[in-house]
Amino acid sequence: PNELLLYCRAGFEADMAAEVGEKAALAGHVGYPLAVANTGFVRFILTDGSPANTLHRALPFESLVFARQSLVAFAPLEALDRSDRISAIVSQVEKSGWSFEQTLHEVPDTNEGKSLSALGRSLNVPLESACRKRGALRRKAGKRWLHLFWSAGDRVQLAISFPGNRSDHPGGIHHLRAPREAPSRSTLKLEEAWHTFIPRQQWDELLADNLWAADLGAAPGGWTWQLVRRGLSVYAIDNGPMQEALMASGLVEHLREDAYDWSPPHPLDWLVCDMVDRPSRVTELMAHWLVRGWSQRAIFNLKLPMKQRWQEVSNCLALLETRLGAAGRQTHIRCRHLYHDREEVTVYVASVD
Ligand code: SAM
Repeated sequence: PNELLLYCRAGFEADMAAEVGEKAALAGHVGYPLAVANTGFVRFILTDGSPANTLHRALPFESLVFARQSLVAFAPLEALDRSDRISAIVSQVEKSGWSFEQTLHEVPDTNEGKSLSALGRSLNVPLESACRKRGALRRKAGKRWLHLFWSAGDRVQLAISFPGNRSDHPGGIHHLRAPREAPSRSTLKLEEAWHTFIPRQQWDELLADNLWAADLGAAPGGWTWQLVRRGLSVYAIDNGPMQEALMASGLVEHLREDAYDWSPPHPLDWLVCDMVDRPSRVTELMAHWLVRGWSQRAIFNLKLPMKQRWQEVSNCLALLETRLGAAGRQTHIRCRHLYHDREEVTVYVASVD
């Protein structure tokens, strides 16, 4: 295979393409992205003869911002015979010489994509049995999965994912149910951020009831609600009103102050921030807190109403690194366009020392 297949939110193809193009070039690979607006995916084609696996390893999934999923892909199969789609698929799998432990039928996260989701299901039993017969589907195959990405009834692209370098969720989408009692739907952004950035086995230590957090721009309280649900005590900074039921928990101190002026009365464990403001201004504020050691960790959103979203994100991450580096702060930074994020991305920063 000589290409990557990346899934993204529909409408963010240009940002995904800019990100992968820049990162591939930095990793010393020559190629070009193929992106069509509102299709929910981007291909990156290598033209230097290097195997896509090398590039795939050089761009760890964790380090990508706009990718929901990252795969090593074969050339798409087009104009499939609608009365026998399976033969062409099996033949490509067999020729590749690769074997897999699972097959996953996926579709773009678009209305058109949704209409294709039944197709994979209907083909899967005969497809798997044909692959098994040829040794391409086995119990042990390096935890590799075969993704079958359907972008039309007669067009599928086969692609491989590897353990530790993929999203384990179908379509790269982590669905979460909106809790009925939460003050806003935004609540899901913080919950998904925790699932994305904090290994499950660390939740009991890092999201525990003896900890303190600040929520800058907290109203009506969706993010504070998540913190309170884990038992944390929260300073909620916002001029606007907080949900009453949430205040009744007794764990929230609501301060009607400007987040740019307020400083915590003691060092905290968590800083979260979902304010609508210029990304660079929010980034400076977060850096200000972290450099001073006012919080050990931060999760914040950068709102991206502009056209060149990748450029903006990249500038902000560089700014953050510069500020923390200049202060001698050892940190771990991650950034992702989460499923529950719209025109925004979520950043996670943890002090390492
Ligand atoms: N995360 C919240 C939730 O889940 O319910 C939603 C936050 S809402 C998108 C942004 C909030 O930031 C608004 O309530 C607004 O009042 C607040 N805000 C904007 N600028 C602020 C500032 N300078 N200081 C404090 N709050 C601010």
